[in-house]
Amino acid sequence: MNNMYFTEEHNLFRKSLQDFLKKEVVPHIDKWEKTGSIDRFIWKKFGEMGFFGINYPEKYGGLNLDLFYTVILQEELQKINSGGFAAAIWAHVYLAMTHLNAEGDETIKENYLAPSIAGDKIGCLCISEPSGGSDVAGMRTTAVKEGDSYFINGSKTFITNGIYSDYLVVAAKTKPELGNKGMSIFVVDRETPGITASKLDKLGWRASDTAEIAFDNVKIPTSNLLGEENNGFAYIMQHFALERLVMGINAHARAEYALDYASQYMSERIAFGKSLDKYQALRHKYVDLYSDMEVCKQFNYTVAYRLNRGEYVVKEATMSKLKSTKMADAVIYECLQFLGGYGYMEEYPMARLLRDSRLGPIGGGTSEILREILSKMILDKKEYKPAT
Ligand SMILES: Cc1cc2nc3c(=O)[nH]c(=O)nc-3n(C[C@H](O)[C@H](O)[C@H](O)COP(=O)(O)OP(=O)(O)OC[C@H]3O[C@@H](n4cnc5c(N)ncnc54)[C@H](O)[C@@H]3O)c2cc1C
Repeated sequence: MNNMYFTEEHNLFRKSLQDFLKKEVVPHIDKWEKTGSIDRFIWKKFGEMGFFGINYPEKYGGLNLDLFYTVILQEELQKINSGGFAAAIWAHVYLAMTHLNAEGDETIKENYLAPSIAGDKIGCLCISEPSGGSDVAGMRTTAVKEGDSYFINGSKTFITNGIYSDYLVVAAKTKPELGNKGMSIFVVDRETPGITASKLDKLGWRASDTAEIAFDNVKIPTSNLLGEENNGFAYIMQHFALERLVMGINAHARAEYALDYASQYMSERIAFGKSLDKYQALRHKYVDLYSDMEVCKQFNYTVAYRLNRGEYVVKEATMSKLKSTKMADAVIYECLQFLGGYGYMEEYPMARLLRDSRLGPIGGGTSEILREILSKMILDKKEYKPAT
């Protein structure tokens, strides 16, 4: 393992995580992929092991460790080959909990962040809407203040953990006439009257639940506002750096997993009297793919290093997701080809990997939108600053 970034402690953590996943998660994956729901007990076990608290404050039960522990968690979750399970975990830890920690007050942290770290409460982040996911500023859900309550009306879609989560972190317009300057973020209890969720069927990420959620006059206390009113858009944009880097890391890790599996397979599979890894056409193809993966991986580690030092690496994290997700799709497509007909069979890992990987260039900002953002930063010299 690259010791420029990973210490002996990191390596020990990786080993214990691998052992845990192999023992506690892998035996259940095929069932969860079939039923489309993850058993609740595993959330508690993740909490007990401290995995949800890796980068959160000790005060709320976290471990407050550096970002390379997060890198390891993400990489290893990809290598058990259930994009849906990995997505459910990181939607909780890096989508919902990020907002609780950064913008929540003391009471919110005690009531939501601490139980999230312990694995007692599961969260989701509700931004995308049926009328459009890319145009975040154009969202239609509203939160109207009356006395010491807000009333939320609208609908969200494609929400990961949208059925089983205990609370929802919801973006809504508090001053619609101000566009992106009139948006706020709230934490909402699942049991609040007026919330209904319906499960969506989808190509991949089959173990995770993805839902459309309707909010019909959902009344919440004003104390459930996260951070300052009308500052929600800036909060969402600020956290995109970590979210996009996480998706870039996920992508290089699943590509690496596909390549490792394919090289083992190619060394064992005999065609025309010799193993596949002795054919030059395949060898050259393989090393090209491997190089593409390694270039992304090294770039992602550098961005993680800089983010860990407190730099605002939104441009680099955007590049990380754009390039790594494209690379992963291409690598996995070709790795499936290396396995011939077996690549197409569900008994082998490539079929699920191919399905799951396809979400990479869509979720959390499509590749087209990422190119738009990069064009503004690179060509128009626009600077994005962290929210204050
Ligand atoms: C399985 C899954 C899980 C998800 N989980 C979550 C979640 O937990 N929380 C959440 O809030 N969202 C979630 N999403 C939503 C995801 O972030 C959106 O699907 C994504 O942002 C795109 O929005 P959209 O689907 O509405 O596409 P649209 O915005 O309708 O875009 C459709 C197409 O047009 C392109 N396009 C749009 N505008 C432009 C433009 N200006 N220039 C060029 N091309 C453009 C897009 O790139 C895309 O190819 C999830 C989605 C999926 C599929």
